[in-house]
Amino acid sequence: MNRPPKPVPVPDPTSEEFWVAASEHRLVVQRCRACGWLAYPPSTVCRRCLHDPPDFEWVPISGSGNLKTWTVVRDSFLPAFADETPYVVAEVEMIEQAGLRIIARLVDVDVDDLRLGIPVEVAFDDRAPGASVPQFVRAAP
Ligand SMILES: [Zn+2]
Repeated sequence: MNRPPKPVPVPDPTSEEFWVAASEHRLVVQRCRACGWLAYPPSTVCRRCLHDPPDFEWVPISGSGNLKTWTVVRDSFLPAFADETPYVVAEVEMIEQAGLRIIARLVDVDVDDLRLGIPVEVAFDDRAPGASVPQFVRAAP
């Protein structure tokens, strides 16, 4: 059976820089020039200082973080992922800032080995030319 393709990002003006960087295997987030807050997901307003007008720049981050919570998908809604179940969708807190959390798949980890706080690092799922999606893998010891 042919598996349908996995969905690819559809950038909008707010998220375009994030997806361009991801396609180059770089993880970037917005930083508020007014207060220094790192923002993810891409936003049109700084949720910390509400600076008006918003003044963001894109900055690279390490891609390292710790597992804060997760869910195990055992019955995928999307046929493209059906043969990969069970898989893990994780919320990872990045080391750069408390509360800077990114939700993405966590791959190459046995479901029974999941523990709060395990160190993870970003990797990228290349889904199509110019369309890569961040995901996480367990960090090398
Ligand atoms: Zn701010």
